[in-house]
Amino acid sequence: MAKPRVAILGLGIMGSGMASRLLEEGFPVSVFNRNQEKARPFAARGAFVTNSPREAATGSEVILSMVADDTASREVWLGANGALAAELRGALLIESSTLSVAWVKELAAEAEKQGCDFLDAPVTGSKPHAESGQLLFLAGGSEQGFERAQPVWSVLGRDAIHLGPVGSGALMKLVNNFLAAVQTVSFAEALALLDAGGLNREKAISILSEGVPGSPMIKRAAARVLSGDFSPHFLMPLMAKDIRYAIQEGAERQVDLGTARAALRIFEAALDAGYGGRDFTAVTQALTAEKVPR
Ligand code: NAP
Repeated sequence: MAKPRVAILGLGIMGSGMASRLLEEGFPVSVFNRNQEKARPFAARGAFVTNSPREAATGSEVILSMVADDTASREVWLGANGALAAELRGALLIESSTLSVAWVKELAAEAEKQGCDFLDAPVTGSKPHAESGQLLFLAGGSEQGFERAQPVWSVLGRDAIHLGPVGSGALMKLVNNFLAAVQTVSFAEALALLDAGGLNREKAISILSEGVPGSPMIKRAAARVLSGDFSPHFLMPLMAKDIRYAIQEGAERQVDLGTARAALRIFEAALDAGYGGRDFTAVTQALTAEKVPR
């Protein structure tokens, strides 16, 4: 399969893993990150390190963005030196950040004006999956764009699913994450009650994990609790952002996400208490006696 030149915009936890993987597989890669310190190490590994999204996009056939939120995405695509300020006609633009449906539709319209294919293709999987090419891409956009992205899916993904027109990937991802968030908060409350009742934590966690409530999400959160390791694979503020976008999407479609609203309140309290630099599963610490100092 031909290896197109790929620009990666955003070298955070996920974007850095994706760029590394493309480089390992011999793709020509240009990179941009707002904080340029994070981009520098990629030069030694063969990436073309650039000073702006526009410079990274110039001459690239595929431009993939992996940044925090709608504001960041707007900045890297439409900012003064954003990718869409480059001459891009015919390029394939992939927005893999988790974003609101309204924003990806607006962005798709801008891409179309420039004669580009556009996909919203957020991912499931986390840091290790980005590094090992085991992400699942949830794509919205044209069939043609989806097919054009095969070389990227084949290296970065365990699979890619085409869900429908632009916005379909974003919607699927927001539903996926609010459900994961609600389960994690429920698990945190369960632990708080178990602790308050004086039950043995390890026995209780084993019963919950092995029983009906033991979803992959609960199992993953349980492993974090048992190891005490809450180093970030997925930062808590980003999970709170995803729940907010899901609630917003629900409101626009007259679907009230009451459990998501409850989960968001609890994540916001944890963020206020200083857990913002941790993995989102640290909400289990915030709700239990394991509270840690700021
Ligand atoms: P991260 O480590 O916090 O990285 C965020 C990236 O966004 C950084 O490159 C950051 O640049 C950039 N950024 C933030 N604000 C910006 C702005 N205003 N202008 C330009 N760039 C900006 O986050 P991540 O975990 O890689 O997540 C990236 C996206 O993937 C998010 O939408 C997240 O929800 C989604 N996601 C994450 C995971 C996961 O497990 N981590 C899984 C699936 C999806 P600086 O370095 O300069 O701050």
